Amino acid sequence: MSRQGFYFGAGPAALPTPVVEQAAQEFIEFDNQGVGLGELSHRSGQATKIMNEAKAQIKELLKVPDTHEILFLQGGGTGGFAACLYAQAAYKFYKSNGQAKSVSGDYIVTGVWSLKALAESKRLGIQSNVIAKAEKFVEIPKIEKVNGDFVYYCDNETVHGIEIQGEKTTPPVDFDNVCVDISSNMFSRPIDVSKYSIIFGGAQKNLGIPGVTLYIVRKDIIEAQEKVDIDQLRNAGFPVAPSFLDVGLAVKNNSAYNTVSIFAIEVIKLVTARLLANGGIPEQTKISKSKAEKLYNAVDSRKDVYVTNVKPEARSRMNVVFNLKNPEDEERFLKEATALKLRGLKGHRSVGGIRVSNYNAVTEEACDAVVKFILDFK
Ligand code: PMP
Repeated sequence: MSRQGFYFGAGPAALPTPVVEQAAQEFIEFDNQGVGLGELSHRSGQATKIMNEAKAQIKELLKVPDTHEILFLQGGGTGGFAACLYAQAAYKFYKSNGQAKSVSGDYIVTGVWSLKALAESKRLGIQSNVIAKAEKFVEIPKIEKVNGDFVYYCDNETVHGIEIQGEKTTPPVDFDNVCVDISSNMFSRPIDVSKYSIIFGGAQKNLGIPGVTLYIVRKDIIEAQEKVDIDQLRNAGFPVAPSFLDVGLAVKNNSAYNTVSIFAIEVIKLVTARLLANGGIPEQTKISKSKAEKLYNAVDSRKDVYVTNVKPEARSRMNVVFNLKNPEDEERFLKEATALKLRGLKGHRSVGGIRVSNYNAVTEEACDAVVKFILDFK
């Protein structure tokens, strides 16, 4: 099988070619059973084995402590906005022995994805406070005092190309209950799992294909959602999770309460096995940093052609966002890139410009090819 050129789409995003090849084969026939992975029962022994192997590899890569559970749900990253709220609400109510009258979340708003998560809390009727919001999404805003029951933020804003920087993913505030969306930078650097109540991310960028969302949830949060009295919770005016977004039910049923995509989880298994074989997160951290530096250096060296609005201290290693100084050149930039088989470079429709997504599966070779194009473009 051959694949033409290089793909820099923001998500769904490039996967390592050997993973695509193996998954394609397994879609047709898995384990010599006369059945492909889109057909295999999610409750079969083979499916359970795939699930357990994927989880074990994630545990090893991210050094997930025994205080936390790894689980998979559906509903994408957007499902995660709500799943966090349901779980934190159940936790507050359960911990207060049914006495709590409300739950509130403190949101750090750094771009559209945290803004959408904030909007979700309004939908579900959960009181939300914005404890930090950038004027324009080009910087990390200053965080005010935490007052709520949990803090929510997005570690990497895929559309605006904003990332909370550091050698590892760690909460920007010191608080007991912090929820984080790591959809677009997970597995590209270490994460302080023990410091979070809920970690989640849609698989379709650094981990796999659409259809499955990874969650890493503290066990006391899971216990609360398992044990809370649903009638009491509802009568007290708290939102009750639909069963498919309930982390308690998911853990009890080994992430297969309803039909999960075993094919999507197999892809996660293959991606994480490859990461482990290639030096794990320490190696990936180095590679991500080096590729991002090459990309930003190229863009910065052509100030006559490109404009970057994101402040250096907020620049994402995963999504390199910039504009053509002369907006009329944008179409030509994309056309010439496509002619060189460099695809997926168009910025998100809400911000325009160019976005080079630099996820784990974007090889050094792919990065060098786009860097050369950025430098050569006239
Ligand atoms: N969070 C982030 C950081 C994202 O980039 C995205 C989508 N690309 C989402 C959440 C939403 O994910 P989904 O489309 O799977 O709901």
